[in-house]
Amino acid sequence: MDMFTLDIRTLNFIIILFSFIYSIGFLFYQRSQQDIPGLEFFALSLLFIGIGPFFLGLRGAAPDWFSIVLANTVIMLGFQLMLHSLCIFRKCTLKYTYFSYACIPLSISFFYYFTQISPSIKARIIVISIFLATTTVLSALVTLKGKHKDLKIAVWMMSASLFLFGTFMTLRVIWTVFSEELHSFMYAGLIHQLTFLFSIILVVAMSFSMLWMINARLVKSIQNLSRQDPLTRLYNRHALERYLPELMAKISKVQPLSIIMMDIDHFKMINDKYGHLAGDEAIRHVAKIIRTHTRKAYSAYRFGGDEILIILPQTRPEEAGNLAELLRVKISTYNAINNKNLVMTSSFGVASLRDGERWEQLVSRADQALYQAKFEGRNTVVTDSEAPTCSLIDHTRHSQPEAYDKAL
Ligand code: GH3
Ligand code: MG
Repeated sequence: MDMFTLDIRTLNFIIILFSFIYSIGFLFYQRSQQDIPGLEFFALSLLFIGIGPFFLGLRGAAPDWFSIVLANTVIMLGFQLMLHSLCIFRKCTLKYTYFSYACIPLSISFFYYFTQISPSIKARIIVISIFLATTTVLSALVTLKGKHKDLKIAVWMMSASLFLFGTFMTLRVIWTVFSEELHSFMYAGLIHQLTFLFSIILVVAMSFSMLWMINARLVKSIQNLSRQDPLTRLYNRHALERYLPELMAKISKVQPLSIIMMDIDHFKMINDKYGHLAGDEAIRHVAKIIRTHTRKAYSAYRFGGDEILIILPQTRPEEAGNLAELLRVKISTYNAINNKNLVMTSSFGVASLRDGERWEQLVSRADQALYQAKFEGRNTVVTDSEAPTCSLIDHTRHSQPEAYDKAL
C-alpha cells in the first residue's frame, strides 16, 4: 500500500483550485452568453464543492465546528445544488431533489453529534459518503432521464462519471464500516486518498461534459436559425434545398406523399394599400395559420415572397386537398391587420408524387395547379388531376383584375 500513496492536503488544494476556476468561468459564461437554465446553480455548486475542502484544510487552525461540521455541510450543499442544477438543465422534475434536501438537516445533526458529543472520524466518513453516494447516483439518473435533447455522448459521459463516483462512495461506506477507527483524517488510508482524487476527476468531467452539451445546444440553435425564415418562422428555401436529398431518401419510403403550393392573392395590393409592415403582418399571420393547422410530420417552407410550400408525407391527394381547403377558409375569414378591415385570400395547388417522378416535376405540377387556381379566379384549391396540361394554362397571374375587389 505504501508504494502508492497520495497526499490528501495536495489533492484537497487541487479540488479547491479546479472548483473555483470552473465555478467563476461558468458564472462569467452565463453572464456573457444567452441564458442557459440551471447553469447558475451548477456554477454555485462547484463553488460550494471548492469552499468545503477549503474549510476542511483549516483543520487545526480553526475550531472543529468550522473545519468539520461547517466544511462538510458546505460540501453536501454543493452536491445537492449540483443535483438541483441538473434537474433544471436537463429538464427533469425537481422531485428527485426532495429526498436529499430532507437528508441535509439529519446529516448535519449526525456531524455535530460525531464531532462535538461523541467524536468519530469513521462515523463522519460514513455519513458524508452515504449522502454523496445518494446525490451523485440521483444526479446520474436525472442526467439520463432529462427531457432536453442534448448531445448523447456528453450526456453519457456526465452520467457515467456521476454514477462511478456514487459507486465508489458506496464502496467507501462498506470499507469504512468494516475498518478500524481512524485517528487522523489527513493521514487516512488509500480509499480516503482516492476519494479526493476521484473528486477532482468528477469536477473536471462534469465541467467538461457540461460545456460540451452547452456548445452542442448553441450549434443546434445556430443551425435552426440558418434554416428558418425570420419573418414567418417557417423553414426557408435554403433549408429546402439543403435538406432535399435527405428528404428525397425518406420520401421514397413514405409514399403516398403530397405537396401544397400556396400563394396569397393580390398581395401587392395589400402592400400598396396598407403598407409593407401590414403586408409583413399578413404573411406572418398566414404562416401562423399553417403552423396551427398542420400536423407535426408536415413541414412548411417559405418558397418565395408570398408563396409557401407544404410537404405532407404519407398523405393522399384527397387529404391534402382537404387541408388546403381548411387553410383557404381559415385565411379568408381572417380580417384584422393592425385593426384595419382587411380581407385576404389565397390560392392553392395540390399535387401527389407519382412513381419514378423527380422532385422538380412534382413541384412543377403543384405550381401548375396553383396557376390554374389563380386563373379560375383565385381563393380556390386545385388538385393536379383537375389541372389541364401546362400548355393550356394562362401563366399570367394578374389576368382577372376584378378579383382585386374580391380580395381587398
Ligand atoms: P397574385 O394573386 O397573382 O399572387 O398577386 P400578387 O400581388 O400576390 O402577386 P405576386 O404573388 O407575384 O406578388 C408577390 C408580392 O409580395 C411582391 C412583393 O412586393 C411582395 N412581397 C414579397 N415578399 C414580401 C415580404 O416579405 N413582405 C412584404 N410586405 N411583401 C412582400
Ligand atoms: Mg401572390
